[in-house]
Amino acid sequence: MVFEFIPKAIGFGYAIIVFFLLVYLWYSRRITRRGAVIFLIISTALGFLIFSPVAPWQFMNLVLRDTKGLGGPLQAAAFGLLFILGFTLLFGRIFCGHICPAGTLQELAYLVPAKKVGRRWKNTTMAVRLGAFVILIAAALAFSINLLKFIGLKDFFYLAVGSASFFIFLAIVVFSVFMYRPFCRFICPYGFLLSFVAGWSLFRFRRTDLCIHCGKCEKVCPTDESKEGDRKMECYMCGRCIEVCPVEGALKYERG
Ligand code: SF4
Ligand code: SF4
Repeated sequence: MVFEFIPKAIGFGYAIIVFFLLVYLWYSRRITRRGAVIFLIISTALGFLIFSPVAPWQFMNLVLRDTKGLGGPLQAAAFGLLFILGFTLLFGRIFCGHICPAGTLQELAYLVPAKKVGRRWKNTTMAVRLGAFVILIAAALAFSINLLKFIGLKDFFYLAVGSASFFIFLAIVVFSVFMYRPFCRFICPYGFLLSFVAGWSLFRFRRTDLCIHCGKCEKVCPTDESKEGDRKMECYMCGRCIEVCPVEGALKYERG
């Protein structure tokens, strides 16, 4: 399905434009969780059409110095990934929330009504992902192997149904119906880096003095990041907390 003749840089250009558009929309409160679904659909479609900007794949190819896999020069990929890291430090995980096709596909799957699990597993997911990060980087550096290939990240978006790894990622997507973003929270090496910079982000969802401590946002947050004092490392800016908050202005996307 992926059209190789379309430059991957188009996905990066889309990422930059939509990133700032979403910053503006969240900050000015002109968007809701439901309104943001349109970005989830477009970003996911780009994954299937041009396989960009699939940052974890580009990150691993950068580690492997694989220009063919990147579809462009190493310097451009390094610049792009550093750019996203820098913007995440300023504005939080908007890229993961609404732009990365691997993340948006799982976000869409989680919208399917079903019994949900794993909301309180924040420490577990972080620990597992640290281990996954070490293994992925070690395999790339020591053996020049991209383990994400075996998980089927690329084969899935390329609709390579003849490949066994296609079905591994398909299983992850199906699991996303029940558990919020299992690939992002357990495996993604680039998301691991983004979660660290997001812990210091300048803009994020914050409680104001109007908060009545009803706890509704804490109950609905799929990653247990809505409590007072949470660092928002695993906040994917889904907007569920804002949606359920009963007091106008008690929860805002704003500067610290
Ligand atoms: S955690 Fe990784 S896979 Fe998930 S949205 Fe972020 S970059 Fe994409
Ligand atoms: S519900 Fe949780 S993950 Fe979603 S925006 Fe709020 S704090 Fe972030």
